[in-house]
Amino acid sequence: MAQLTVRSLIKRFDGLTALNNFNLDVDEGEIVGIIGPNGSGKTTFFNVLSGMYPADGGEVFFDNHSENLLNLKTHQIIGLGIARTFQIQRPFNNLSVLENLMIGGHCRTQAGLFSALINSASARKEREQLKARAREVMALFGNRLRSVEMNPAWTLSYANRRRLEIARALVSDGKLLLIDEPTAGMNPAESLQLAQTIQAINKKGMAVLVIEHDMKFIKKLCPRVVALDYGQKIVEGTYAEVRSHPKVIEAYLGRD
Ligand code: ADP
Ligand code: MG
Repeated sequence: MAQLTVRSLIKRFDGLTALNNFNLDVDEGEIVGIIGPNGSGKTTFFNVLSGMYPADGGEVFFDNHSENLLNLKTHQIIGLGIARTFQIQRPFNNLSVLENLMIGGHCRTQAGLFSALINSASARKEREQLKARAREVMALFGNRLRSVEMNPAWTLSYANRRRLEIARALVSDGKLLLIDEPTAGMNPAESLQLAQTIQAINKKGMAVLVIEHDMKFIKKLCPRVVALDYGQKIVEGTYAEVRSHPKVIEAYLGRD
C-alpha cells in the first residue's frame, strides 16, 4: 500500500476549480516530481495536503492512519510527519539561522513553547537537543548554512534562504517532505548541489514530493514525474515519458 494516497481531491476558489478530482499515490521512500504550467494547481495541492486550505472534496490517507487527513489541522498533519516548504519563504528575519531551525523543530518536542521560554532545567536541556538537531540538519548542506548560523535570516543570499526553508522543514523529522520550487533563484551549480542534498535527505528515509519548473532538476532528481493541468493529473511516468507526452507539450504550449 502506498504511504500517501490522494483520491478525487477537489479544491475550488469561487468559480475556479484549482484541483479537479486529483489522484496520486506515493510510496514510502519515493521521490516524485510534480510539473505543470503556471496555475495548474501544484501549490494548491500542497496547501490542501498540509491543511492550510480546506478541501472541497476527496480523501487523503497517510502512513496507515485510518483518518482522512483532510479532516485534520495543520499541526496534526505535521505531527503525522508531513513537512513542507513554501514557494514564498517566510523565515523569521531577525532571528539567526540557528534560531530559525530551532523553532522549526519545536513543535515536535515535549516541553512546549511556554516552558521553552522560561529557564528551567528541562527547557535548557530541550534547547540543547534542538540545537543539536538543527546542526545535524545544517550538515546536510555542507558549510553553506553552518558558516552563517549566527547571522540573521534577512542577511542570507537567495539560495541560502531556500536552503534554510528546506532545513526548517527537516528539523521536524518527518516522513514526507513537500518542496515547492526549491531552485528558484539558484544558479545551475547550486541547483545541482540541491538535487544531491535532496537525494541525501531521501536516502535517510524521507519520501519527497517536489514541485519544480527546472526540467533538468526534475530529470536528475525524480524517478517518477506527475504532470498537472487544470487541477488534474494528465500524465505520470518517468521523466522521459512525461516530458515528451503530447498532452504535456500541449499543456505548456497552450498556456505559457
Ligand atoms: P501553480 O502552483 O500550479 O502555479 P496554484 O496552485 O498556485 O498553481 O494555482 C492554481 C489556481 O488556483 C490558479 O488559477 C490560482 O490563481 C488559483 N488560486 C490559488 N490560490 C488561490 C487563492 N488563495 N485564492 C484564489 N485563487 C487561488
Ligand atoms: Mg506554485
